[in-house]
Amino acid sequence: MKVLVLNSGSSSIKYQLFRSEDWPVLAAGTISRIGEAESELKGSWIGVQGEQQSCRETSAIPDHGEGLARIAARLRDSGVLADLSELGAVGHRVVHGGEAFHRPTLVDDRVVAAIRGMIPLAPLHNPANLAGIEVARRLFPGVPQVAVFDTAFHQTMPPRAYRYAIPENLYREHRVRRYGFHGTSHHYVAKRAAAFLGRPLTECNLITLHLGNGASATAIRAGASVDTSMGLTPLEGLVMGTRCGDIDPAIHFFIANNLGLDNAALDDLLNRRSGLLGLCGVNDMREIQQRAAAGDERARLAVEVFCHRLRKYLGAYYAELGRVDAVVFTGGIGENDPLTRARTCSDLEAFGIYLDEQANASAERGERAISSAESPVKLLVIPTNEELEIAQEALAAVSGTTVD
Ligand code: AMP
Repeated sequence: MKVLVLNSGSSSIKYQLFRSEDWPVLAAGTISRIGEAESELKGSWIGVQGEQQSCRETSAIPDHGEGLARIAARLRDSGVLADLSELGAVGHRVVHGGEAFHRPTLVDDRVVAAIRGMIPLAPLHNPANLAGIEVARRLFPGVPQVAVFDTAFHQTMPPRAYRYAIPENLYREHRVRRYGFHGTSHHYVAKRAAAFLGRPLTECNLITLHLGNGASATAIRAGASVDTSMGLTPLEGLVMGTRCGDIDPAIHFFIANNLGLDNAALDDLLNRRSGLLGLCGVNDMREIQQRAAAGDERARLAVEVFCHRLRKYLGAYYAELGRVDAVVFTGGIGENDPLTRARTCSDLEAFGIYLDEQANASAERGERAISSAESPVKLLVIPTNEELEIAQEALAAVSGTTVD
């Protein structure tokens, strides 16, 4: 059985094809610049003799329908998906499931309508995700389509964590509450962490830190999300590559009043020109660390602000959980940047957090512990794999089981 994972953006489609027995990636690729004169399809796949093959094509791809048709043709011609009957499921990443979706869900007309109903909550993402679903339903008739939501894992948050202290009708009538994102990643690394600790997930209290260009922290009690740092949108919480994270909400009207910016300009300022980029002019943590090491004061401050915010969440979630079995680092920064991890975990022995500096600095890859053997709270690095999680969840949704 094979499972296709699709991540449809406004002008792009990313795909991965898995074989379900042992979950290797049989093919992967991206179509970018959909709707432009020169769209691009880049793909790679495992050839008949097991050799890695790749292609790059440029031509006009006017819409998602044509894009997905090209992907299907490429999969067929390369031999990795000779016949559609081999496809057990198509898993779609959907950004916003609101309060309607608590788990990956088989797509039917009602589900499509419900995802459409979430468009006001995610006006940039959900329309693109829906386009991918609708095209895939047409192109792969009879193949189960499964929507896997970024928000679903966080639907276990209690009201005290998800409600904002603003007038109630904004929640009741306009659905303004905290939803959280990156749920697929937090859930995946939590499951892997539990396996690493040799315990059932339902017995684990974890703080998972997804630190990439987007970043979020989640408090997990007995395997369920009880708080997370992103809110109504992904703008809240940690300092990110280009997003500000938590700020005084009055900054919005201060800027609007004093600089005369409208909503679109404010959106651009806080989502795309703030965060690490706003602090030091660069959003790539690797480059920021190099600049900081060379004495660049702005880069040094950017790292300090990033880690200071992260430690605040670590402390808050520690207090919320009471007992923490492990802190899990993932995402491009979490997996690869020992300096961020060291700064975040330093001087926390009173919390039972003991970093093993050698293990942290080691160039080892893969799932690993970076705490000392006697550390009551384990520090783990777990590479995330959202596509694999979507593939496994999609197949499980089709067969009515759950993924451990
Ligand atoms: P992601 O969005 O998960 O792909 O993560 C992207 C972020 O990870 C960028 O800020 C990269 O600079 C950062 N990153 C990747 N590798 C490293 C590394 N070796 N050291 C520091 N940051 C890294």
